[in-house]
Amino acid sequence: MEDMYREVILDHYKNPRFKGELDPADISYQDDNPLCGDMIRIDLRVDENNRVVECAFSGQGCAISQASASMLMEDIQGKSLEEIKEYSRDDILDMLGIELGPVRLKCAMLSLKVLKVGAYGVQEWIEE
Ligand code: ZN
Repeated sequence: MEDMYREVILDHYKNPRFKGELDPADISYQDDNPLCGDMIRIDLRVDENNRVVECAFSGQGCAISQASASMLMEDIQGKSLEEIKEYSRDDILDMLGIELGPVRLKCAMLSLKVLKVGAYGVQEWIEE
């Protein structure tokens, strides 16, 4: 099964970046993907300009869900919440660099969903 994943995904899965929790955090949210058993929590600290100064994720689940969270954390460093709002499904797929079927797509999108709902309370975009 894991042979199909790119090495970078396995690397993020085995050596996750920004794994942990921030306490206190300005934004904190978690959600799960019951189809696969993935759980992701994301904590953010933002400065007075709403830029991400610190971020961390925690949780467990499959390689795709955990690697996408790790990659996303790496990517949002220093970005503003306004910029994060523009992140789309394609951005996550670009980071992962693989084609995903509908089931795996839910795994891949969990971290972005948690991030966006946590930051904005928007959820509609992912329920297609
Ligand atoms: Zn999963």
